[in-house]
Amino acid sequence: MRQFITNMLNIQEDKIEELQTIVHSDGSIIINLKLNVTSKICPFCSRPVKIHGYYPRTLTHSTLVNRKCSIVYRQRRFICPKCSYSFNEHNPFTKANDGLTHETKINILKDLKHPEDTYTSVAERYHVSKATVLRLFDKHVDIMRKPLPMVLSIDEHYFPESDMDSLYCFLLMNFITGEVIDVLPTRRKHSPCSSARIFWSVWKAELKS
Ligand SMILES: [Zn+2]
Repeated sequence: MRQFITNMLNIQEDKIEELQTIVHSDGSIIINLKLNVTSKICPFCSRPVKIHGYYPRTLTHSTLVNRKCSIVYRQRRFICPKCSYSFNEHNPFTKANDGLTHETKINILKDLKHPEDTYTSVAERYHVSKATVLRLFDKHVDIMRKPLPMVLSIDEHYFPESDMDSLYCFLLMNFITGEVIDVLPTRRKHSPCSSARIFWSVWKAELKS
């Protein structure tokens, strides 16, 4: 079990000082853990530091299918008795303050590649909010807009599964090749969607030039 957990957390066994797994009746798992002490030297004055305390950080770690898994990581804080500088030990599970482990983020981004998946379905699968999935997507995925073709055809397509407010998405295609240039959530110029607004302003600028 211990090795299974360390594999799942993508961390070496010898780095863990304490590990306790709690399985709830609904199947959800909570892993309480503490890492071994690594740094003992003050980065400022190079003197030995003391442990200042432990701060529990709850992280969502969704690598198990159909099970919610959280890590309660008791992150150690050090203090230098000489210069009073205090600092956290290195956190191997996440860099950001968003409470998601690296593995969870990678899984979410991978699943967003599937055309049949929506933000909502991915959010449910990984036990996070839809807003979290959207934020991850916006932060990590930067899709370049394709250049406008010689002849542009535009069309609306009924899309009831859409996450957007409009039931009709707005398709921009190359009239000659049929290639899709972009898909916008709505054709409306004054839509709350920023990409639709950008499209209309770029479109106007390119028409003028
Ligand atoms: Zn110091």
